[in-house]
Amino acid sequence: MRPLKSIISLALAGVLLLAGTPVQAEAGALYRADEGYYDPMLLGEHDKIVVIDPGHGGPWETGACSGGLVERDLNLKISKYIKQRLESYGCKVLLSRTYNTRVGLEDRARYAAKVGADALASAHLNGAGARAHGARVIIPNRSYDGRCRSAAVSMANALMKHLSKDLGLGARYPIYSRYTKSGLRYPNGSRADYFAVIRVSKRYHIPAVIVEPCYITNAGDRHKCLTSEAKLRKVGYSEADGLADGLGYNLHLKAPEPAELLDAEPTGKSSYISVTWERSKNAQKYIVFRRTKGGKWKEIGRSKKPSFTDKRATYNQTYYYTVVSENSNGRAVSYDKSGVKAKTPRHDIELGARYTNGKVALTWTDEDQPDSYTIYRSGDDGDYKKIATVDGDKRSYSDADVNEGSIYTYTIRSYKKCKTYTYKDRNRDGVKSYLTGRWTCRKRTVVKHKRNDEIRSTYKKSNITVACQPQAQTDTENQSETQTADTTQ
Ligand SMILES: [Zn+2]
Repeated sequence: MRPLKSIISLALAGVLLLAGTPVQAEAGALYRADEGYYDPMLLGEHDKIVVIDPGHGGPWETGACSGGLVERDLNLKISKYIKQRLESYGCKVLLSRTYNTRVGLEDRARYAAKVGADALASAHLNGAGARAHGARVIIPNRSYDGRCRSAAVSMANALMKHLSKDLGLGARYPIYSRYTKSGLRYPNGSRADYFAVIRVSKRYHIPAVIVEPCYITNAGDRHKCLTSEAKLRKVGYSEADGLADGLGYNLHLKAPEPAELLDAEPTGKSSYISVTWERSKNAQKYIVFRRTKGGKWKEIGRSKKPSFTDKRATYNQTYYYTVVSENSNGRAVSYDKSGVKAKTPRHDIELGARYTNGKVALTWTDEDQPDSYTIYRSGDDGDYKKIATVDGDKRSYSDADVNEGSIYTYTIRSYKKCKTYTYKDRNRDGVKSYLTGRWTCRKRTVVKHKRNDEIRSTYKKSNITVACQPQAQTDTENQSETQTADTTQ
């Protein structure tokens, strides 16, 4: 948890940094962007969320215009190709605008913070005199956050590598950053970045780059990159490859296909449930989730094979199962949200009981090997009370606390603790803080979760009833009792 004090200081810093922008505009502004957050089930340890930010937008902000082309519109087209290609590697991509609409510069970065982005790439086209040409990438300056800078440097280097290979466009100073001259400072007092998208992203510790693959104002660049849908796609794919490369994706590995569930059914052994699915393309392993009716999906195990046996299910319970496929690039982009259903059997333990020597002797058989049994008894009032807990290897119990002449009803239940299952997951703190209205800096961390399941047998309301009256017993029982008493003496 982030201490409140630092939240306040960040909020103050935000007000200072964004001086000139009405603070109220933060709430309710924008978000005509890609809908929703990524489902946490699709965010494994290796998964990254990238916001692609199509530059400009709306009726007035056209960006550069030249040769009959409008930067605003081409940026959006190229961004959609970037998204398509990046997702093919398993990257989780959101666009800061999906159609021609105005989005404030700071809002683009705030959107990235809101969705918990690991990186932001702003898609632009350069504009200058007719002779300027080639690809350029703008990165954060050296102030405030070195991690942001170095992450952006590797994105920019990879972008330039792919852009020059795919499009053959070089520039004299392809990668550069700028310091503002307005006097804006970061919370640590260092000089802010000139470009607002980069500056505000950095405040949320999100590495951001502005990609300008070519000059819209240069006839050669236009002809190479911008004058047909196929050329725009090539530019988008090239930018995507550069970003994926810079973010550490394996470009030879495609995103895993979502797992197709087959079945979930009891195995017949204990309360186990066997879950099966089709092997999916490009998957290296599968993560198995389980929920009860109306409950949340929770991870219960991992498997490299297209099957899994749930040994943590309890008796007489309906479960739903689903599976998310994963490889070293990340998880699939979707999964079966309804899942497959299975019901575990009942497991009633039959009690035997008899009244002898002023005690009630209880016996039972059970093929399971639980950790413990709990025995319940009800008297005349009909309420069950726990009277004893015995070890799981015991199969008998003697209840001495009985009154002759009374009638008791007994029942029994077994309990088995499952081994603790630990799994890792990405944190979602950035999103949470947005939802509470507090914008906090977000640091990507991996959190550990623990599952502690318990398998419980079912039980009958009245398993067995005993009348504590020696007279009620049969003659043979009386005789054997006498004989036993004789031999012990
Ligand atoms: Zn632009």
